[in-house]
Amino acid sequence: MQKGKRFSIITFGCQMNVRDSETMRSILLKRGFEEDKPENADIVLINSCSVREKAEKRAKIYTREFKRKGKKVIFAGCVAESEKDKIFALGVDAVLGTRKIHKVGDIAISLLEDRKIIEVGFDEIPHFDQVPEPTHPVTSYVNISIGCDNFCSFCIVPYTRGREITRSFNSILSESKELLKKGSKEIFLLGQNVNSYFDETTGYDFADLLYNLDKKLEGDYWIKYLSPNPRDFSYKVFKVIKESDHISFWFHLPLQSGSTKVLKRMKRDYTKEEFLDLCYVIREEFPDATITTDIIVGFPGEDDKDFEDTLDVVERVRFDMAFMFKYSERPNTPARRYKDRPNTPARRYKDKIPEEVKDERLHILIERVNTIIGERRKEMLRRRFIILTEGESEKFENYTRVKTRENIKGVLKGKFEPGKFIIGRVTEIKGHTPFFEFERFCDYKGV
Ligand code: SAH
Ligand code: SF4
Repeated sequence: MQKGKRFSIITFGCQMNVRDSETMRSILLKRGFEEDKPENADIVLINSCSVREKAEKRAKIYTREFKRKGKKVIFAGCVAESEKDKIFALGVDAVLGTRKIHKVGDIAISLLEDRKIIEVGFDEIPHFDQVPEPTHPVTSYVNISIGCDNFCSFCIVPYTRGREITRSFNSILSESKELLKKGSKEIFLLGQNVNSYFDETTGYDFADLLYNLDKKLEGDYWIKYLSPNPRDFSYKVFKVIKESDHISFWFHLPLQSGSTKVLKRMKRDYTKEEFLDLCYVIREEFPDATITTDIIVGFPGEDDKDFEDTLDVVERVRFDMAFMFKYSERPNTPARRYKDRPNTPARRYKDKIPEEVKDERLHILIERVNTIIGERRKEMLRRRFIILTEGESEKFENYTRVKTRENIKGVLKGKFEPGKFIIGRVTEIKGHTPFFEFERFCDYKGV
């Protein structure tokens, strides 16, 4: 191995970043670089997340640490895009924006010659043709769109990933086929707002996309997708999912807040009642479905009554899992502009919630949600599920990590190869983890 050609990738943030890291990894391997642990690497690539301040800080701490250790650092991802100058000032060797990741090979080569580089901006059509080697034994991520046009007032994503671009159906189909040939058992369709998908060449919307993938991809596999916007669901999508063979009955519906007043300020375009109606329809149409969510507490102007509304939605919907966050003010977002434009309507975001109140609300919310998740899991006891094996459990000896078609994670007694569909019976729940016992092998439909 030529000196300087060992690399390591550290990934923060969402599945979109995981997929981008897989793409960059594949490019570097093709260009003759070799993957290694961070401590042995010559080049450390940090793929950063900027959605909350904490994640951003962690990426910067890592960067300083690796620079101190004398590594070359390529700083990629969302923070690279939004804060290129500040990141460069940290002494990194290259700054690589979210739509420039296909250039990672050239950049790594330049680093061998000690050049410093910044590549950011949204001027190029992205990397859809770079199909990475999957790194997960059973799940493959497939971008169906990138960027976002929603501009929710708390969110930095439109500024770090640019405007929404949808990928053509044929390109999605051919990548998915290739991934299934390589042994994937789960195609995870990715976009910031997947259900706003529209392909101009075929005229397909999200429902048509799901329908055609389900029909045209052959084999033993499931289809899941992230993240839909509650606002963009339609009966057509529900009908396609219900009649499909492969599509998961898992609905991730990011609530953000249960208060219609706060939702309006967040620019989410749905009310508390519309969200509840959506969940009601899902529970009616798909009795076995799981519904999961994301919730933010402490958005500017959120009063006790608003927070009560969030708890009320949590009680009524009974989510199977939730990611819960304290509001974190992010650069460029509409909710931050009150600082630069005090005399415009942006001033309504000035009403900041004190940190102690945010902490208290988050604590109350987590307790409530966890209790409900515990109760939901208990409903799984003694029932049979189709599960997919993923690999050895690190936490429980002689157990295999599995997930259900509805995306509940658990463990299966014994050691099984990854990528097997199995009928498992739930014998026990520990914490929120269902413990399954093997009954028989099956296909993706449980047959
Ligand atoms: N496109 C996805 C969200 C991507 S960000 C969607 O619309 O669902 C993932 C989650 O991070 C969001 O759902 C939100 O709950 C949270 N989040 C985003 N910006 C945040 C902020 N400024 N402070 C706290 N949480 C935030
Ligand atoms: Fe952010 Fe809203 Fe777009 Fe999701 S839909 S990425 S929360 S702007």
